[in-house]
This record gives sequence, structure tokens and C-alpha cells, in this order.
Amino acid sequence: MARYTGPVCRQCRREKVKLYLKGEKCDKACPMDGKKPYPPGEHGKDRQRQGSEYSTQLREKQKARRIYGILEKQFANTYNEANHAAGITGDNLLRMLELRLDNVTFRAGWASSRSQARQLVSHGHVTVNGKRVDIPSYRLKKGDTVALIAKTRENIQVRTTRDTMARRLPAWLEAEGTGFEVKVLNPPLREQIDTQIREQLIVELYSK
Ligand code: SF4
Repeated sequence: MARYTGPVCRQCRREKVKLYLKGEKCDKACPMDGKKPYPPGEHGKDRQRQGSEYSTQLREKQKARRIYGILEKQFANTYNEANHAAGITGDNLLRMLELRLDNVTFRAGWASSRSQARQLVSHGHVTVNGKRVDIPSYRLKKGDTVALIAKTRENIQVRTTRDTMARRLPAWLEAEGTGFEVKVLNPPLREQIDTQIREQLIVELYSK
């Protein structure tokens, strides 16, 4: 399963915004907070200028991709699906990204970052409706129940993350049992998605 394996903070610096890709570490020591608040590379400081319309759209797409930890092809496939589904393409796209199993694992507060959530899923620590699913991109639907397997609920890192981060569940998810189960009440509405993405720019980019 392909994924980005390069330097993580470089992605935030490229987008000139904190994407919180390293979980709680992002609140402690972040190069964006002072040391290197400019794009990476030899000419990073020169890239501070306002870009063209195309580059603004491209950067928004890259930002979304990086936040959700998806490679180019998979993102383009998701966009195509969103474009062909009924409703507003941008809303569909964000909804599909939010309904990924790794994202819901992150939203549930069991992992400090989406990449950690992805690892929990791909290593078989997560079930959907009682069956183990190890595909991070697995798309959940209304009524699905996601849970951590019993052994992982005792994992010290998972417990610490859940207790210290105390992430608030979005309104479209509902906690069940001891907090290691969540149910998808409904696919999220746009206003229930707090990710800072201007999806219209992504739609404009792919519509060219
Ligand atoms: Fe690195 Fe997190 Fe800061 Fe991004 S927000 S630059 S991932 S420490």
C-alpha cells in the first residue's frame, strides 16, 4: 500500500500552514512556529510570493491530500467518484475523505495523527461491524460501527492518546460502549467537517 514516506514537516512548510500531521508533537516543537516558517528547499524563502490562480488551486489540492495522507492517484480517483455522485462535488469529496476508515479511527481519538490511525488499521487493530478490516481507505456508511480490538484497548499509547487529547467527536459520530467503539450516525454534512480546506478550488483545478 503506497504512502508518503518523506519528511513530514516539509509538507506543512510547502503548504505554508500547520497541517498537524504529527499529532501532539505539533503543539510542542513545530518548525512553522518560528524556526522555519517558509517553504522548504534552497529557494524556499523566495517562494513566499503570491502565486497564480492555478498554483493556488494546486496548493489547495495538495494540502487536502496531505491532511488525509493520500497519494495523487487515489485522490484523483476519489475526486472522480465525487464528481459522478449526486450533489455538490466539493461536498461529496470531503464527505468521502472523512468516511475513510483511517480518518474515523483518528476522529474517534484513538490515534494522535491520521498516519498513526492508518497504521492501527493496516495492522489489523480495527473492526467494522465486528469484522477486522485492514484497509485504511475502506469507506464507511451510515450505521457502521467501528471499534478497536480488545487487546489494543489496553495499549498504553492508545489509552494515553485517548485520555490526553480528549478529542471531541464530530456530530456525525456517536461513541458507544467504553469509548472504544463509534457509530456512523450519518455521512457528514459540509458544516460538520472542520478541516480547513477550500474544496471549491480543488473542483476548479480538476475542471480545467
Ligand atoms: Fe511538523 Fe506538525 Fe508543525 Fe506540521 S504542524 S510542521 S507536522 S510539527
